[in-house]
Amino acid sequence: MGYCINCWRVTLIKIDLHIHSALSACADDEMSPSFILTEALEKGLNLISITDHNTISHSVLACSISNKKGIKVIPGVEVTSREEVHLLAFFDDTSALVELGNLIEKLLPNVENKPDFFGYQVIYDQDGEIVDLDKRLRQAAVNMSLDKLVDEIHRLEGIAIPAHIDKNKFSLISQLGFLDKEAAFDAVEVSKYKWNKNNYKLGDTLSGFPVICGSDSHHPDDIGLFYMKSDDDKLLDYQFFKKYLAERKNENHRRPLI
Ligand SMILES: [Zn+2]
Ligand SMILES: [Zn+2]
Repeated sequence: MGYCINCWRVTLIKIDLHIHSALSACADDEMSPSFILTEALEKGLNLISITDHNTISHSVLACSISNKKGIKVIPGVEVTSREEVHLLAFFDDTSALVELGNLIEKLLPNVENKPDFFGYQVIYDQDGEIVDLDKRLRQAAVNMSLDKLVDEIHRLEGIAIPAHIDKNKFSLISQLGFLDKEAAFDAVEVSKYKWNKNNYKLGDTLSGFPVICGSDSHHPDDIGLFYMKSDDDKLLDYQFFKKYLAERKNENHRRPLI
């Protein structure tokens, strides 16, 4: 538990595990990893993840500069399954994310991005300078089922969490129509609107799954507007976070589905 020494009150940690960088066509072009980390730090976030659509390089870059920037970053990605379900994956180390990234490269259709329609996919270096554009359309679905992707993420000792399951597109509910209680997901993510409406907090469950939420930030102004909070700073450690979710899975259903 974190305490503020001067005022003897509990210090809340702020977590946002769903932020898009400029490598996501739908995100603002100025969302470089360096910029995101600086913004997150300024907004008082303690732990973040960059989760671009079907691409990992900015997430890896963010991890490599996180120490220098002074904010904790865990490697992550938002994969689009064959069923067009968005699935978040998180790992303890970047090598596992790179391995999933290599798999995504093989599974993603070789289709060129149409910047006028989808937006640019801008590649930045560690100093926040533009180095190139990613020409391959990243928002397409990869050629692997949701269940198989979850298996692959688990093989790499990652955490697999269907994203924004209550949304009316690219979600578990919109694409498959239901949440299977036997599914191997480590948690489910709801949209921030649902999180606020249902007054969720970290540690709650939904149909037997731990429930989390992220800002799904696409623009600079989004960063820091939404975060999960906790008074347990051990959650900043990936392995502890993973265990925390596992311990809550299959707890009694405290909330109805959606
Ligand atoms: Zn999504
Ligand atoms: Zn997203």
